[in-house]
Amino acid sequence: MRLLEYQGRTLLDKAGINLPEGQVVQTPEDARSAALELETSVAIKAQVPVGGRGKAGGIKIVDTPEQASTVSSDLLGSDLKGETINELLVVEAVTIEQELYLSVILDRENKRPVIIFSTSGGVDIEQIAEDKPDAIHSQEIDPLIGLRSYQIRELLYSSELNQARLRTMMNSVRRVYDCFEDYGATLVEINPFVFTSNDDLLALDSKVIIDDESRAREEIVNMLPMDQPAQNETELERRASELGLQYVELEGNIGVIGNGAGLVMSTLDVLSQRGGDPANFLDVGGGADAQLMEDSYSLVTSKSGVEGVLVNIFGGITRCDKIAQGVVDALDKSPADLPLVVRLTGTNEDAGREILNDYGIASAEPLNEAADEIIARVNN
Ligand code: GDP
Ligand code: MN
Repeated sequence: MRLLEYQGRTLLDKAGINLPEGQVVQTPEDARSAALELETSVAIKAQVPVGGRGKAGGIKIVDTPEQASTVSSDLLGSDLKGETINELLVVEAVTIEQELYLSVILDRENKRPVIIFSTSGGVDIEQIAEDKPDAIHSQEIDPLIGLRSYQIRELLYSSELNQARLRTMMNSVRRVYDCFEDYGATLVEINPFVFTSNDDLLALDSKVIIDDESRAREEIVNMLPMDQPAQNETELERRASELGLQYVELEGNIGVIGNGAGLVMSTLDVLSQRGGDPANFLDVGGGADAQLMEDSYSLVTSKSGVEGVLVNIFGGITRCDKIAQGVVDALDKSPADLPLVVRLTGTNEDAGREILNDYGIASAEPLNEAADEIIARVNN
């Protein structure tokens, strides 16, 4: 679960990391009074769960409360990288002297946290890795032993920070690591972490991801009550969880609907092996009926970039004829004219295929062929 910037700030603040002062607002009037109260130039920052807000126009620095109000009314309600801006963070604008990068990330392969540090902050870590791979330093931490002081020294060893900054940074690495551990995070990234001309170190931006298993921790629940949808969800993910469906978004162009996690995963594998590119997948679970199929189809095809749909259903409790009827009903309601291939096996499969046939919907068996069929249709 990705936290919004201001939520991450709450955790960093508790961990003793210095942050520019500021507050979250939802109206231009409140932005004006926040700026007035800060008595400095302010940065107005869109609170949406995506990176690269600066480049996309979601961060504006203004000099007066009047401008804060004008800029806020432009930003509020507008769209930033597909997300509606409902909240803004108004923070004192900082004069940056040096931009650093610091993160703690869970390396799932090695099952350990890794601390990553660079003096080339302010741009994405991927960009630093490409431009200046030597400027990235990292330390793997044994979770049972914890962070040792020598590891912090090694991390910062070649950074050429002056004595005062080095000492400040050493303390901050420990605090950021503690923050990662204490809140069950899988990522705490501060970028940029900046020094001002008085050697003050401030976290200007942060990205915090909390492990879903840590969701119930008190500090997290206080920020995000359990009955609230996680705010890192896209519109379609929210719709799916309201329907009680497992739905995940990917990058490709073929929507996938299946029943049961195992079947869905193997459908994705086969589709990829045959050269297809899944756009998303939805698990309708057991006992899917016609209505559920209809909702699922509409959800999967609502994602922009979906050019075709592959349905793979094993009929056990779920009867194939009901599934087929759902697909037909869905097409009746939204004749999207997208290529569709359905694979039905199990209970009442013949009846199911007949319904599809009568409606002119392609069915295929085995899965290899169904995958090839949808790939060919989408590429046409
Ligand atoms: P992101 O684009 O979503 O990563 O948002 P950031 O908060 O990291 O802002 C992007 C960039 O805007 C930063 O790398 C800074 O260079 C700049 N920026 C953000 N806040 C301030 C500020 O208070 N003062 C100055 N001078 N620059 C800022
Ligand atoms: Mn940033």
